Amino acid sequence: MAGPPLKILLVEDNPADAVSIEFLLGEIERQQQQRYRLKTADSISSGLKALDSETFDVVLLDFELPDSSGFDTPRRVQERAPEVPIVALTGHSDEEFAARAISMGVQDYLIKGRIVSDLLYRAVLYAIERKKSQQLLKNSEERFRAFFELTGVGAFQADPSGRFVLVNGSFCNIMGYDRDDLLSLSFGDLTHPDDLPGHLKEFELLLNGGQSQYDTEKRFVHKDGRTVWVHLSMTLLRDAKGRPLRAMGIVQDITGKKSAEEEIKHIADHDALTGLPNRRLFIELTRLEVAQARRNRKKIAFLFLDLDRFKNVNDTLGHGAGDEMLMEVAYRIRHNLRKSDTVARVGGDEFNIILPDIARGEDGSEIASKLVASFQAPFFIAGHELRMTASIGISVYPDDDEDMDTLFRYADIAMYYAKKQGRNAFQFYNPAINTRSIERMQMEGWLRRCVERDELSVHYQPQLEIKTGKIISAESLVRWNHPERGLLQPKSFIPLAEETGLIAAIDLWVLNAVCRQVRTWLDAGFPPFSITVNLSARLFQDPELVVKISKILKDTAFPADCLGLEITESVAMSNIEYTAEQLGKLAEMGMHILIDDFGTGYSSLNYLKRLPIGRLKIDRTFIEDIRTDPDDRAIINAVTAMAHNLRMKVIAEGVETEDQLEFLRGAGCDEIQGYLVSKPLPAEEFSKLIASGKFSVCPKVG
Ligand code: C2E
Ligand code: MG
Ligand code: MG
Repeated sequence: MAGPPLKILLVEDNPADAVSIEFLLGEIERQQQQRYRLKTADSISSGLKALDSETFDVVLLDFELPDSSGFDTPRRVQERAPEVPIVALTGHSDEEFAARAISMGVQDYLIKGRIVSDLLYRAVLYAIERKKSQQLLKNSEERFRAFFELTGVGAFQADPSGRFVLVNGSFCNIMGYDRDDLLSLSFGDLTHPDDLPGHLKEFELLLNGGQSQYDTEKRFVHKDGRTVWVHLSMTLLRDAKGRPLRAMGIVQDITGKKSAEEEIKHIADHDALTGLPNRRLFIELTRLEVAQARRNRKKIAFLFLDLDRFKNVNDTLGHGAGDEMLMEVAYRIRHNLRKSDTVARVGGDEFNIILPDIARGEDGSEIASKLVASFQAPFFIAGHELRMTASIGISVYPDDDEDMDTLFRYADIAMYYAKKQGRNAFQFYNPAINTRSIERMQMEGWLRRCVERDELSVHYQPQLEIKTGKIISAESLVRWNHPERGLLQPKSFIPLAEETGLIAAIDLWVLNAVCRQVRTWLDAGFPPFSITVNLSARLFQDPELVVKISKILKDTAFPADCLGLEITESVAMSNIEYTAEQLGKLAEMGMHILIDDFGTGYSSLNYLKRLPIGRLKIDRTFIEDIRTDPDDRAIINAVTAMAHNLRMKVIAEGVETEDQLEFLRGAGCDEIQGYLVSKPLPAEEFSKLIASGKFSVCPKVG
């Protein structure tokens, strides 16, 4: 016989019914080879007692017993032995009874009087199976509930309207609400307003079956109002027919991680000293502002603020004081801006500002002038009362350009322009300053290479002795054969060369070129003659000046007493001790010293007396007006008389007419230089002039 015996408890008070059941079981045993072991009870109390002492595979239960009746009977059995399946034995035949019995957990029912062995056997087996599967389901549900409740993460289920229908304790903790509170709220109620549109859309998509799950990081709002960052995994739960039923969410509180991330991001995006956004963040913010302005057709102003001579603070008071100054500056800037404006520290003493949403380009000037004015009050730094000013350049989107980098560059150019105009001011960008600055930058690049590219040349302008009418000397004047612009006169590049310091190299090149040129003339048999070169302030201040000049003279075997050096009045007067020493050495070597552009500075002849000066060159401006300006005539007369007193000769520059020459002759002036004699000439032409024999012999010039 197959299988273990079925252990059956029959609870039946009617002995006839009990006997008939037992008879049917005997039949089953014979026909189905299914053994059984039967225990009978005639009341609920004896039935329960049997359940206490033994285990059964099934209970055949009459509901109407002497000590129990109706649905109370199965309930008591279930309470005592929840795991044992029940087959009801009933006299009632109505469907309603059967349905209620099943719904309260009875597995099957049989109607007394109609029971046959097959039916009984099937009912018993079915009840056992059904109970088993019900138990399995219950177990898994319980396991799920336990998981749902005990898992460390928050979990909820929400119906299609977003209402919470199930929430676990962790979710309650994360959100700060009681379970009942949460069950009256919806997914949308808890979502941070900024995240709402996006997340409701995803939720809807999930419940429409458009996506079966999604993962996201989002913000909820805690009951106390603070933001809770969560990692949310949402899954769609479907019903038996596969239709979307609910959304289930697993929620992990990541607020701590987020704030750490934000902290790190803050550090990476901000300047540690002032706490302001740094260049990286500023660029990002600007990109957003520009995009927004483009959409809304608004204007934005960019301000580039640079402190004037900030380096002095660092250099004189140390970096600690410099830092303090920067913090104070950042504070002042911040407090002169609107809330919507952004300021960033983008470099040592450089601050960038965006003023979004301005009505007109000029509106930037109001804030710019407020900023400039905010620097009026002294700064109290490291126990010192310091003054600091700032220069600001402004460019406007979209008036000046629509490209962010170009706008930055323009604001930068405008800032440099403001600095050049005397600092402590602001300047709007305009194309004119740009052209100038681009030209300047280009020129500077070219100028840096002009020496090595051999683009310079020297022109020679004769100097004539009035008394004899002979050419006794010549001034060498530099020219630049610019690769694109042709031959350039000094006025279009000397100022830039002076500003950039490149002038010193140019001067040395000229000196070298002149010495070599004159050397070839001398070697070719020309009589020795004097030549003058111009010395810039920059080269004159070079402590190595004397060494450098001697070297050139030596390299070219040039006789020192044929060389005249022209320095301007202002250069000579700037540091009289130094000048006296340098000029002393040069004169000792045999060179002639000439004061150029005399009359334009404020030199005192008393000082000049202390210098080994051979000639004073009266500036061209006095000569120009000789005929019309009696003052100029008086000055020329006086200068000539005094110079002669000091045993200096006088040369007049820029003489163009016979009239001028006549006046100068009358005033006792010694020499002239100017177009009347000759324009400055290229070496070749000048050599023809020398060959013409008009030259007197050097060195009797000084
Ligand atoms: P500077 O030393 O006073 O030179 C005299 C300038 O007056 C020259 O101008 C010359 O061409 C110009 N000139 C001479 N006679 C006349 C005249 O009759 N009428 C007019 N209108 N102008 C006359 P240039 O060659 O353009 O040089 C200008 C300045 O550039 C020079 O003034 C000098 O300061 C500077 N410079 C020229 N070459 C050099 C150089 O090699 N080194 C340095 N440091 N400066 C130089
Ligand atoms: Mg000169
Ligand atoms: Mg001059």
